[in-house]
Amino acid sequence: MTSAPASPTRTPLRARLVSVVLPMHNERDGLDRLFGRLVPVLESLGAPFEIVCVDDGSRDDTWARLKEARARVPNLKIVTFSRNFGKEIAVTAGLAHTKGDVVIVMDSDLQHPPEAIPDLVAHWNGGDFDVVFARRVDLDRGTFLRNAFSQAFYRAFDYMSEISVDRETGDFGAYDRKVIDAFLAMPERNRFNRGLFAWAGFRTTTLPVTMEERQTGASSWGFVKLVRLAIAAITSFGTLPLKIWAVIGTIVSLSSLLYGAWVVMKTLIFGADVPGFPSLMVAILFFSGIQLVGLGIIGEYLGQVFFEVKRRPLYFVRETHGFDETPAAPAAAPQSHPTETRG
Ligand code: UDP
Ligand code: MG
Repeated sequence: MTSAPASPTRTPLRARLVSVVLPMHNERDGLDRLFGRLVPVLESLGAPFEIVCVDDGSRDDTWARLKEARARVPNLKIVTFSRNFGKEIAVTAGLAHTKGDVVIVMDSDLQHPPEAIPDLVAHWNGGDFDVVFARRVDLDRGTFLRNAFSQAFYRAFDYMSEISVDRETGDFGAYDRKVIDAFLAMPERNRFNRGLFAWAGFRTTTLPVTMEERQTGASSWGFVKLVRLAIAAITSFGTLPLKIWAVIGTIVSLSSLLYGAWVVMKTLIFGADVPGFPSLMVAILFFSGIQLVGLGIIGEYLGQVFFEVKRRPLYFVRETHGFDETPAAPAAAPQSHPTETRG
């Protein structure tokens, strides 16, 4: 539910088509409830709509259920991948398959309430904003460890990258067609969607929305996956982690020079005393540790360059239903040719 922000008065929508993108990974049990809430909301908008579901290599029968749902759910278009590619890629594929003038991106586990859509779209419709993000206002944010981690991540991200993202907004929101086109024109394989949207710019606003608990199934984001996304996000939006070693190196060498001078002075004045083995060990361990961290960070960036230069397609589509024609592939991100098997 939205916490009833002052929404612009309902003027007729200037959208010829409203698109909704839903990434899905093992969401079989939530589908009926999802469509049950989403469809009436979309029908109330007073504009034609399409629902684009991307089955991201689910291991359950999400795909079979989606095919069945096409008989009941109006304007349902479905895509399935050759395997699991991750949520960011699933959203990207979904966006590449949309045609709407305004596109809604949301999770399919009903944590993002469909009832917020009319307000998001109304704010877009006003014409002053190209992106309307839903900003979560509930205070319950999961476990202590996850919170601490997420807070640390957003601090680090803000500090180290050239853009900044708000911790309370995800990708749930309404996007103008030109924002989607800009997003799809960004070809990188290593994708942190929220960062890409922030980097693209455009006129952005947020709307407070109370997010909900996951209705069925389990979150697919293990801690390791989150840490990997965080590293990808930071390293793909800035190079501070690479450059900082020059600063650390300079500080360390300057201090070692000072220390060397101090040792020479001491020896001249007081004579040589017994060499300090422990301090030597500490220094060796400390500086070899620092060098390894530095190498690891260079490796992280090099690995990213390695993946980007291969220029592999972002994903492979195994099957689609409901699309009239092959969707326009994003210019710089070639994809496989979807096998059109209309049912
Ligand atoms: N999801 C996906 N591919 C994945 C993992 C998740 O498409 O590999 C989808 C999932 O079905 C859901 C959304 O991404 O619609 C958010 O995932 P989830 O609820 O697991 O994450 P959380 O809400 O815990 O951040
Ligand atoms: Mg969720």
